[in-house]
Amino acid sequence: MYAARLDRVRSAMAAQAVDVLMVSVGADLPYLIGYQAMPLPRLTMLVVPRDGEATLVIPRLEVARVVERPECFSILGWEETQDPIAIVAELCGRPSTAAIGDQTWARHLVDLMGFLPATQWRRSVELVGPLRARKDAAEIAALQTAAAAADRVARQLQGGDIALIGRTESQVSEDLSRRLLAEGHSHVNFAIVAAGENAASPHHHASERVIRAGEVVLCDFGGSLSVVDGEPGYCSDMTRMIYTGQPPAEFCELYDVLFAAQATGVASATVGTSAQQVDRITRQVIADGGFGPKFIHRTGHGIGLFEHEDPYIVEGNEVLLEAGHAFSIEPGIYIEGRWGARLEDIVVATEDGPWALNSADHSLVIVEA
Ligand code: ZN
Ligand code: ZN
Ligand code: ZN
Repeated sequence: MYAARLDRVRSAMAAQAVDVLMVSVGADLPYLIGYQAMPLPRLTMLVVPRDGEATLVIPRLEVARVVERPECFSILGWEETQDPIAIVAELCGRPSTAAIGDQTWARHLVDLMGFLPATQWRRSVELVGPLRARKDAAEIAALQTAAAAADRVARQLQGGDIALIGRTESQVSEDLSRRLLAEGHSHVNFAIVAAGENAASPHHHASERVIRAGEVVLCDFGGSLSVVDGEPGYCSDMTRMIYTGQPPAEFCELYDVLFAAQATGVASATVGTSAQQVDRITRQVIADGGFGPKFIHRTGHGIGLFEHEDPYIVEGNEVLLEAGHAFSIEPGIYIEGRWGARLEDIVVATEDGPWALNSADHSLVIVEA
């Protein structure tokens, strides 16, 4: 599998005239060789020449963590007294064009530029992004497993197993996090809990605000789940809305618009439709419902080893959806100072149409506890 991915990335390098690819921290490395570098200042870098053997340059003390795949890459452990940048530059030769991982620490790139002053630099996402965006069967199965685990937590929330009234947003967030782990996630990436007026802020951090009866509660949570122990984990990400009591008619009207927009967005995500078209179709429903200016972010993002990756479902992204593309559809309506709502599923584009991996109740669920 990893050898096939390296072959595909080398074909992309040939097509784009890139001589060498270097990937460090971030998701390209686990995608290509199954090893995730810790985000430490010490350099870990996979050097992939277009025509030559790949080498993983890694601190000596981290070597033991690497699962060896000699058919894919060799390992070069550097000692504390060595300069790893010089080692990487040596392995690169004199490339006219090099691509470097988007999440690489800037200090490493700046130092490399000193060694390779004549090299043109490109972002690895141009090569690896389209490959990572098209999930194979095993990756889709991994996303499905993660989505199902998140769905079980959503059902516990909707079923009233998670007490809301009288607890703080952070307490509920911790509860959601604990349950994500209990349902099989290896890591929790976030558990946004936003009550009342806080729901108007899309990336609100759970706070010490106490949840009261008769208000809206937005819960957006996700983590990553390794299907095989030690292999990099694929992500979950979903949003569901609760009302702690009978919602007022005004909020129900807002929610009906959001519900229709999300369902329409999912249905529009067919193979051959552009990412921006899905955004436009989703946005139009919200505009028609009178909330156009209150939908203040893109419709969605790709998901895989990272929570946010290609393809982004946003105006300007003309990429046509392909079978295997996996992404969120998550429109929101945010009324500052008052309330807000978002509804999110992970969707896979397939030849048989869009497939939403999350199935927990999409309606505004009333929890009076
Ligand atoms: Zn986000
Ligand atoms: Zn989310
Ligand atoms: Zn999301």
